Amino acid sequence: MKFTDFNLKDTIQAAVTDAGFTEPSPVQRDAIPLVLEGHDLIAQAQTGTGKTAAFGLPMMSMMKADGSVEGLVIVPTRELAMQVSDELFRFGQKSGLKTATVYGGTPYGKQIDRIKQASIVVATPGRLQDLLMSGKIKINPSFVVLDEADEMLDMGFLDEIKNIFTFLPKQRQTLMFSATMPNGIRKLAEQILNSPKTVSITKSEKTNTKITQLYYVVQERERDDALVRLIDYKNPTKCIIFCRMKKEVDRLVAHMTAQGFKVSGLHGDMEQKQREVTIRAFKQGGIDIFIATDVAARGLDVNDVTHVFNYHIPFDSESYVHRIGRTGRAGKTGEAITLVSPNELRTIKRIEKDVGTTMTTQVIPTRMEVQNNRSDALITKIAETKVTENAINLVKTLQHDLDIVTIAHLLASLVQEENFVKGKDNIGLGLEEIELLIERAMQNRGNGGGGGGRNRRRGGGGGGGGGYRGNRSGGGGGGNRNGRNGRSGGGDRNGRSGGGRDSRNGGQGSRG
Ligand code: AMP
Repeated sequence: MKFTDFNLKDTIQAAVTDAGFTEPSPVQRDAIPLVLEGHDLIAQAQTGTGKTAAFGLPMMSMMKADGSVEGLVIVPTRELAMQVSDELFRFGQKSGLKTATVYGGTPYGKQIDRIKQASIVVATPGRLQDLLMSGKIKINPSFVVLDEADEMLDMGFLDEIKNIFTFLPKQRQTLMFSATMPNGIRKLAEQILNSPKTVSITKSEKTNTKITQLYYVVQERERDDALVRLIDYKNPTKCIIFCRMKKEVDRLVAHMTAQGFKVSGLHGDMEQKQREVTIRAFKQGGIDIFIATDVAARGLDVNDVTHVFNYHIPFDSESYVHRIGRTGRAGKTGEAITLVSPNELRTIKRIEKDVGTTMTTQVIPTRMEVQNNRSDALITKIAETKVTENAINLVKTLQHDLDIVTIAHLLASLVQEENFVKGKDNIGLGLEEIELLIERAMQNRGNGGGGGGRNRRRGGGGGGGGGYRGNRSGGGGGGNRNGRNGRSGGGDRNGRSGGGRDSRNGGQGSRG
C-alpha cells in the first residue's frame, strides 16, 4: 500500500512525499481511511508507530484552513506536545495550516496570540483547561485527538480531560490513541467517543534465540558515523541495513559507497528483474551490504546474513521481529543491531516487552578499538599467509639497501595504512548516560506527577541533568564514557581478503 492510495489532499500528499514517507506504517494503514470516512476512532498504538501522522494526515486533509482552530490535540506532556507539533507543522505547511503549542510553565500572552492564528492546537491538559475556564480562548474544533490517553490518566488528568470536553462542540470527530486499554480508558472512551471504530496494532511474534540483539544510543546527527564505525568494527560478511524510507535508502547507499563499502539499495519500486540481479549479487558475495526498506526486504531469503542493522528503530514489534529474522537463519548465529536516539529508548523498552526479549545496550567502539581489532585480524592473517616467490624476490631486492628489520617495519606500515580508521573518536552515548536515560524514561512512564517529568525535550524547564535531547555530558560521571563494555572478544574479523572495502581509499571527506 502507498500513501497515494489514501487520496489525501494534494498539499498534504506533497508534504508526505517531501517527508520521504512512501509506505504507511500499520497504524496509518488502518486508521487513515477510517478517519477520512469521518468515524470516531479508538486506536491502540504506541509511541514510534507513526501515530502522529495516522491522525494528523487525514485530519489535516479535511481542514479548510479558514483561520479558525479546526483541530485540537491533547497530549500528556510538554515534550510530546513539541514533538507532535513539529510533526504536524511540517505536514501542514503547504496547506497553510499553522500549529500552536500550549503547555504550562510559560507565559500566557504569546500562547494566546499563537492560538488565534492557528488551525491546530497541541496542548497539555492543565494549561488547556486554564485557558478554557478563564475564557482566555474560545475554540470550536471539528477534530479532537487524545494522544497517549493512558499516560494522561496515569498522570491523573482524568478530571481535566472531562472538564475540557465540556467546552468542546458536540458536533466533532474524536480520535483516541492509547498504548494500553485499561478500564479507565474504555470508560472515558464511552463518554467522549461516538460509535468509534477500533484499530489495534499490538501483535507480536517471538524472536529467534540465536540472534544477539544489541542497541546503541546516539544523537540523531550521529547515525551515519555510528553505522560506519559499527560496520568497521563488526566486519560483517553480509549485512542488511534497514531504513524506514526509500529516500533514506538512496542517501545511505551514496554515503556508504563513498566510504568504500560494497553496497546496494533495495526498494519496493525496483523492477523485478533488477531486484533479482541485485539479490543474486548479494547472495554470491558481489555485494556485502544491502540497504533496504521493510517492504523491499519482504520475502528476501538469504541464509548467511551475519548482521542486521536497524538504522532507525522500526514502527512496530512485528517489523522488528521480521527484520532481525533476516539473520540467524539455517541454524547459524546472527547479530541484530539497532541505533536509537535518546528519545527512542522508550520504544526499545516497549519492543522488548512486546516481543519478550532483551536487547543489550553497548557503547560504540572508539577508533582505537577498531584499529586494535584490525591489528589482531592482521596478525592472524599474516601468520596464515603463504610466502610467495614474488615476495621472496621483492625482499631480496630491498635487502640491497635496507636491513631486514627495517624492511619488516616498512611493510607493516604499508599494510597498516589501509587499516586507518576515520571519524571522530567517540560516537554516541556512554553506558552511564544511557542507564540514566533509561531509568528516567521508565520512572516518568509510571508516575508522571504532572510536573517536570519527561517534559524537558529542549532542555528548557527546570531541574538539572539535561533532557532527552541532552548533550553527552548530561548525567553522571562528567560525560566520560566510563563503564564501556569493552571489546567483545575480537575474534570475528577473521582476515577477510584485502580487496573490497578494506582498501578504503583515503581521500574521502572527514565524517566529523
Ligand atoms: P510517531 O509514532 O508519530 O512518533 O512517529 C515516529 C517517527 O516515524 C517520526 O519520526 C515520524 O516522522 C516517522 N514516520 C511516521 N510515519 C512514517 C512513514 N510512513 N514512513 C517513514 N517514517 C514515518
